[in-house]
Amino acid sequence: MSLLRLDQISAFYGPSQALFDVSLKLEKGEVLALMGRNGMGKTTTIKVICRMLKHRSGTLAFEGQDMARWPSFRAARAGIGLCPEGRRCFRNLTVHENLVAAMRPGDWTLERVGDLFPRLQERRDQGAESLSGGEQQMLAIGRALLTNPRLLILDEATEGLAPVIRQEIWAAIARLKGESGLTILVVDKTLKELAPIADRAVILERGRSVWQGRFDALDAATRDRYLGV
Ligand code: ATP
Repeated sequence: MSLLRLDQISAFYGPSQALFDVSLKLEKGEVLALMGRNGMGKTTTIKVICRMLKHRSGTLAFEGQDMARWPSFRAARAGIGLCPEGRRCFRNLTVHENLVAAMRPGDWTLERVGDLFPRLQERRDQGAESLSGGEQQMLAIGRALLTNPRLLILDEATEGLAPVIRQEIWAAIARLKGESGLTILVVDKTLKELAPIADRAVILERGRSVWQGRFDALDAATRDRYLGV
């Protein structure tokens, strides 16, 4: 049974349709890259998965359970951990307080997060608002991990960050895959950085899932057609 499965999902913002029959599945332990140019529906798909946006038709299931009537807290409780675009954390709390606020029982502890992101350890008592963009992103990932997710969703985790920090974050994601076998849905536009970690890819084009397959089977023509600028 797939961990997550979307079949023919449609979703709207008011009168305008953003998703048209989007289908995808994610197996346990897999890293799936959700790709596509700007405005193609990646964040909208994530909102539907996290139940922040209701779908209008189609079915979606987490571990075989129909999610249609789930409110967002139910998705979080079932183990869907979102690290949202724009790295939201509590700016008036310290790093430590931010992490503690996210904690739920499980394997992920403050020590493990500190080991994954030593910068967070070093800045433990600093206010979150004083962190650099990259450090805030690490904090957002740390917070998502401390909820002990069964599925971690990373929406544009490295967008707008300096190359060195991007590398640090991608290295941490690779460690997550290698050491903890976490199932990850990652949204990003950088093929080069996704290549070492993504098992499969789904490409969205104008709200439709137009290609899916093994990441290493993404050929140049497909890349140019759907991901080129
Ligand atoms: P990006 O890479 O720029 O984040 P995306 O692939 O995540 O893009 P979405 O944010 O899912 O794309 O947007 C899909 C479509 O839905 C776009 O046409 C966008 O303009 C529209 N859209 C997104 N959010 C809203 C909203 N709150 N209200 C109305 N339309 C929206």
